[in-house]
Amino acid sequence: MIIMLKQNPDKQEVEKLTSMLEKENVTINYVHGKFNDVIGLVGDTSHLDENTILASSDIVETVTRVSEPYKAVNRKFHPDDTCIDVNGAKIGGQHFGVIAGPCSVESEEQMIQVAKAVKDSGAKFLRGGAFKPRTSPYAFQGLHGEGIRLLLEAKKETGLPIVTEIMSIAHLDLFNDVDVIQVGARNMQNFDLLKELGHSNKPILLKRGLSSTMEELLMSAEYILAGGNKKVILCERGIRTFEKATRNTLDLSAIPLLKSKTHLPIIVDPSHAAGIAALVEPLSKAAVAVGADGLMIEVHNNPKMARCDGDQSLTPLQFDSVMQKVKFLASVENKIM
Ligand code: PEP
Ligand code: MN
Repeated sequence: MIIMLKQNPDKQEVEKLTSMLEKENVTINYVHGKFNDVIGLVGDTSHLDENTILASSDIVETVTRVSEPYKAVNRKFHPDDTCIDVNGAKIGGQHFGVIAGPCSVESEEQMIQVAKAVKDSGAKFLRGGAFKPRTSPYAFQGLHGEGIRLLLEAKKETGLPIVTEIMSIAHLDLFNDVDVIQVGARNMQNFDLLKELGHSNKPILLKRGLSSTMEELLMSAEYILAGGNKKVILCERGIRTFEKATRNTLDLSAIPLLKSKTHLPIIVDPSHAAGIAALVEPLSKAAVAVGADGLMIEVHNNPKMARCDGDQSLTPLQFDSVMQKVKFLASVENKIM
């Protein structure tokens, strides 16, 4: 971190500032410049806040961070890829994993049918929302505890580990038998929820917020890792832009960029990114090509009758065709599926 001082700083103020910084467990390098003096802070500065330093003294002109504010998720300190392993179903490193299932859990028949079909096509995880974050309070909100029970039934039938979204810490007890807990885009910065999940031993699927930067996504993951839970999968699910032709805009550049910044696996959700079933295949192929560690795809046994997100949901047959292509491309990328 580089602190540039105003010209001709008061000596006493400089001493006050440096003695304050000395308490922060960093090495201080004071450089006398031709115009401005500069204080360089070397070491772990992730606990320091630029604005707090700026506000702490009248002699500070600017504070510039030269290293990332995240530590636990940073690839610099953990060069090896993290692989999340749920009873042999793996995402990360060499392993490409597909999570598939309906947007929301609706009935036992639906869940069993979809679970069997996606397993046959090669999905490693079953998804389904029991708690649904809906824009309208009048829209279907999910089956809650009953939805989780139906997911567990489908797991019993197929052996597929289940992924489902949590919306409130108050529901945590209902997730005891869930394999992967999803934090949806709308809760990416629900810091109390992230802190609580940091104490969990379950893998967390953390979706990028609708208008969140990559750094904000990494800082949210940092909350979970800082609490002790190292098992986080990131998910790019499209971001808000001016474009209205698709539900969101899939930020494909986020995949290679995030992979250079973090050791955590990152998957792509083409369903919520596009909002259009016909775009799921091309976007899935693109995701493999840019180095994603997996996909999350919405599949419904009868998309026209889906209670949520029918327009973007694939039929099991369409999903199978996407999977054929994804498997081929994943092998080209040297990934194990
Ligand atoms: C979902 O995966 O069901 C979902 C609600 O997605 P997102 O949080 O990305 O909108
Ligand atoms: Mn959905």
